[in-house]
Amino acid sequence: MLIGIDDTDSPQGMCTTYLGAVLARRLIREHLRVLEARLVRLNPNVTFKTRGNAAIAIAVDGDMSTAFKTACATVEELSEFSCANTNPGVVVVDRPPDPAFYRKAVTDFCTIDEAAVILESAGALYRGYKNRRGLIGATAAVACDFPDATFEILTYRKQEQWGTPREVDRASLFAAQRATFPHTWDTVDEINDVVVCVPHTPDPVLFGIRGESPSWVMAARQMIASEKPALEQIWVTNQGTDAHILPGRIGELREGLSYRIHGTVADAPRTGRGGHVSFAIRDSGSTVRCMAYEPTKNFRQIVRQLVPGDTIIAAGSYKKGSLNLEKMKVVSLVTAKSVRPPVCTACNKRMASAGAGKGFKCKKCGAKADEPDVKEIARAVEPGWYEVPPTARRHLAQPLCRGTPGC
Ligand code: ATP
Repeated sequence: MLIGIDDTDSPQGMCTTYLGAVLARRLIREHLRVLEARLVRLNPNVTFKTRGNAAIAIAVDGDMSTAFKTACATVEELSEFSCANTNPGVVVVDRPPDPAFYRKAVTDFCTIDEAAVILESAGALYRGYKNRRGLIGATAAVACDFPDATFEILTYRKQEQWGTPREVDRASLFAAQRATFPHTWDTVDEINDVVVCVPHTPDPVLFGIRGESPSWVMAARQMIASEKPALEQIWVTNQGTDAHILPGRIGELREGLSYRIHGTVADAPRTGRGGHVSFAIRDSGSTVRCMAYEPTKNFRQIVRQLVPGDTIIAAGSYKKGSLNLEKMKVVSLVTAKSVRPPVCTACNKRMASAGAGKGFKCKKCGAKADEPDVKEIARAVEPGWYEVPPTARRHLAQPLCRGTPGC
């Protein structure tokens, strides 16, 4: 059977994955066999989310009503019910429902009623608390199928330490990544000198190591020196798989969905207030603005190198009329040219325009010339994929160290 849980935390505390790790141990104490723990990220553009729009599913063998009772008791004990935006959902099914619901929940928006219809037809045991919104994530979690998956080991703090500064040795994090990359990723951001895997929120997570297999995340985890965690859990997850990205076409994009689109750069990238870089791309007469926000740091340097006529594939979420870039492929580059007045052969000074369509004239000696000085500019960018740095990466975005999208 599968137990799905979502929406138990608030910005002030708790984490659905911690609750899941506690539940897994309680189930074992109740003589159920825990087979797998799944961390299921859903549409990152859902506004109700607390942080990373995560739900969990635990695969278990044993008595269904014991599993349901234990799950509900754990949710009732640990959820942040006082937060208006915390609406837990608990689901137990003896076999996974149609994965189409998971696929919709990770790429699009679902309703509580849609989840309830699926749960009824699956004969699920389920309970939605307060406004029952957590049933959406809990149902998606038990319906998930992962054509591609990664792993994360999450370590959790002792309760008396929640809300206090985390003690994790910085140097050991950098060493762990160096020793295990590209089999693990996003522990630290080397270029920006930032620790990525230790949260700053008051929740129970101490740190999390992401990687391609349980043995690689364990190998990195064992190199990390820190305060003693209370609990550790390896999760199989859709993080780092681009599960949220749909193939899309400019002119047909829907608000709050995430796409991979082809286009030709239509205007030169501009850096606006706050350091955010924007430019438009065009395809078949439609255009869309692409954004590389300030937190994407060095990625903006690549974006700034684009010129009109270059062709790219852009991937990211479509929000408020813009595609917020997560990664980008430079497909082809135009030959960039600089066009300036020519240099006067007699005075060795640059001429000035003699007026529209009248060529050029030397201000000093009056010499005239018809043709401008055209030079090819060497392009500082090469065709290929580029991505935002680890510090700006969304949970679902596939890092390029896992391979490039097949397009
Ligand atoms: P954390 O990651 O820290 O555990 P969170 O960011 O996952 O928290 P939640 O508190 O779980 O945030 O809130 C997300 C809410 O949105 C849940 O109630 C979930 O059921 C709902 N939800 C998730 N995906 C969708 C979707 N695609 N459409 C509509 N609602 C969704």
